[in-house]
Amino acid sequence: MATVDYLSSTLEGVSVQDENFDSNAPFNKSKTLASSLSASQSRLKFPLQKIANNSTTSKPQHLTKITLPSQSAQSGSSLTALPRSSASESRPSDSSADPITQSIPTPPKAFHLGMFEIGKPLGKGKFGRVYLARTRSTGFVCALKVLHKSELQQGKVEKQVRREIEIQSNLAHPNVLRLYGHFHDSKRIFLILEFAGRGELYKHLRKAGKFAEPLAAQYIAQMASALKYLHKKHVIHRDIKPENILVGLHGEIKISDFGWSVHAPNNRRKTMCGTLDYLPPEMIRPGREENWYDEKVDLWSLGVLAYEFLVGEAPFEDTPVMTQRRIARGEMTIPTNLSAEARDLIKRLLVLDPEKRLALEEVERHPWILRHCVQSGK
Ligand code: AMP
Repeated sequence: MATVDYLSSTLEGVSVQDENFDSNAPFNKSKTLASSLSASQSRLKFPLQKIANNSTTSKPQHLTKITLPSQSAQSGSSLTALPRSSASESRPSDSSADPITQSIPTPPKAFHLGMFEIGKPLGKGKFGRVYLARTRSTGFVCALKVLHKSELQQGKVEKQVRREIEIQSNLAHPNVLRLYGHFHDSKRIFLILEFAGRGELYKHLRKAGKFAEPLAAQYIAQMASALKYLHKKHVIHRDIKPENILVGLHGEIKISDFGWSVHAPNNRRKTMCGTLDYLPPEMIRPGREENWYDEKVDLWSLGVLAYEFLVGEAPFEDTPVMTQRRIARGEMTIPTNLSAEARDLIKRLLVLDPEKRLALEEVERHPWILRHCVQSGK
């Protein structure tokens, strides 16, 4: 307890310093990090939490600087203290017997819990909690997701988590949440994630009701950029929705939750995944063996997302049976108070035939996007 108090007081007055802040970054109206936060907010409070550490204890150190993960930090020097590959707290021979981590290659350098100071809880998901954390060595701020192996096994989602780790740890894009690495002990898996300072997009949307067209267009442009990157890497997300999008400190969006993602092509539907509201027609068509789909499912979801951003509710929202029926028929009404350009983009994405949906390059060049996403200085 004395150690915890000591650490709390040590960290209480530490200022957040973002050496990677780019005041010209698109979608960022504020000039400095300090000006975007109130005086009291500009200090990152770091109330320490206790996560029982099975294997490691480290002595607290005085820290003077917190480096926030940002786009440039992703490839920059502040990450050098964090080995980029995955790691295991247990010996490699242990992990080969572990059904969840066995197929993930053991890297040369290991992470362990003692490398991190654990801060406030950021949220709770179905299978674990997420904490603010930072490395003791460099003060690199991240989010640490703690998953209990027994719960993953009970929920039969070991495969899903393994896939999430494999896919997400190979991705690096400003609008995709980074997974810097992972490690595990006998009971838990720890995911070292990029810290998304403004939390869930879903909460912002619910609070605002709907987004104004310029903001919605900027979000959709960022989504298109991220999806283009994913699809180039042959990754289909398959679960695009506001709940799976986080917001970074500068207001930029970060796609997260790769639990349903797969490597394209040729993935046959085996299970009904994702929220009904966002499922494309080719994924809900019943029973046919030749029920194949490809990365164009994400284009449909992008259309649903654009609609929900602008209207405040998803286009096919109804009873489950009616939602499926309406999706299969493409039955929706786009409110006429939206601009003609916004309506045009939605209509071109929510097309029943996947081949006829607007390609991501065309989304980026669409008049609605161009009108609202012209970067400053151009
Ligand atoms: P999850 O289990 O991934 O659904 O996460 C549970 C909650 O924790 C989310 O709804 C967010 O509010 C929060 N959270 C998860 N990951 C992060 C992150 N990388 N940065 C900030 N908050 C996060």
